[in-house]
Amino acid sequence: MMIKFEEALRIVLENTLSPEESVVKLEDSYGRVLYKDVYAERDMPPFDKSAVDGYALKREEIGKPLTVLENIQAGYAPAKEIVSGTCSKIMTGAMVPAGADFVIMVEDTLEENGVMRLREPSDEFRKRNNICYKGEDIKKDDTLLKAGTIITAAETAILASSGYSVVSVSKVPTAGILSTGDEIVEPHITPSVSQIRNSNGWQLRAQAIATGANVRYYGIVSDNRELLKEALGKATDECDITIITGGVSAGDFDYVPEIIKECGFEILFNKVAVQPGKPSTFAVKREGSGKSGVLKVIFALPGNPVSSLIQFEMLIKPYIIKSMGGHYLPLKLSLPAAEDFKRKNAERLSLIPVVINSNGTFSAVRYNGSAHITAMAGADAIAEIPEGVTLIAAGERATLHLFR
Ligand code: AMP
Ligand code: MG
Repeated sequence: MMIKFEEALRIVLENTLSPEESVVKLEDSYGRVLYKDVYAERDMPPFDKSAVDGYALKREEIGKPLTVLENIQAGYAPAKEIVSGTCSKIMTGAMVPAGADFVIMVEDTLEENGVMRLREPSDEFRKRNNICYKGEDIKKDDTLLKAGTIITAAETAILASSGYSVVSVSKVPTAGILSTGDEIVEPHITPSVSQIRNSNGWQLRAQAIATGANVRYYGIVSDNRELLKEALGKATDECDITIITGGVSAGDFDYVPEIIKECGFEILFNKVAVQPGKPSTFAVKREGSGKSGVLKVIFALPGNPVSSLIQFEMLIKPYIIKSMGGHYLPLKLSLPAAEDFKRKNAERLSLIPVVINSNGTFSAVRYNGSAHITAMAGADAIAEIPEGVTLIAAGERATLHLFR
């Protein structure tokens, strides 16, 4: 039975693997998903801090000549309190001394014989006191990052600044990549007249790595029942998630669906109303009974490269990330078309490669269909052309999925 894409995504996300904890060093945490919330170990800033290089003083004494007590360097505690008639030179990031409520920028001052004066009298200086107050960014015990957050650069800075030299993250599922087809050869082989090279396997390997999975590459298996069963059995034994391409359509040699069942998996869907990617298939093996307890899954995708690329982005990437306790769906934007876009067959939701123009419109790229992988290389996003829609007129909006 053909189901809608949204339904397929819902089924996929209802059958994710259960995240498990793993503790890694900060340097190994990039791209991983946080297993636990991250808390602030202390206030940030941890003390009243100077935002500039300058002189710490009392606001009411701006403009008076002031005796300089000391030079406070970042990383050192001030030794002296500011009293009337005095100031201390202070560097950016240093602790503001007791008694001071203002830092005047060094550029606005002159210092001679231990006395600091303003370069020019002005009230402009009073506008900003150049002090960052203790705890103004973060309070001790604040939640800084929620479990499920994917660790990228800003998260790494937060972890580092809060003393997380080890990080609790989710275990990474292992994704096995298997390509099928008697016509497929690996890149180092010169194809015969009737053969083509394996691009899916390498493309899906790259996508799975980019999503943070451990990847096992199983090469190519020919369209032969016994060999397929052996290869799929091995991949599903060794991996949490097996991604197999080709052999899922209605061809005479498309054995994959029956082999999936022979391997003890239950097919939850095998046809999605989406173009490209209609024969996309999802199967699970459970522990015990009921909806929960998914042990392993198989995604079987049609062999055309654009189909497998888009279906990975739309279904498998969210699956892998949710299986690590994270949340991800492609970022969706609604943008107007730069030119008319027409199509003949409007039975299914169409996903077409587009570029985003700098004026905020989108344009379809030259695209001949699901085998045309070079169209994807130049694309910024995938536009949704809903079921029943044959024309998106220039200026009309469509939903775009950003993958990059
Ligand atoms: P299939 O889904 O097996 O019917 O294959 C659909 C189309 O995708 C056919 O033209 C195949 O030759 C092509 N194809 C299948 N597998 C791959 C692959 N691994 N790399 C590139 N093209 C493929
Ligand atoms: Mg095939």
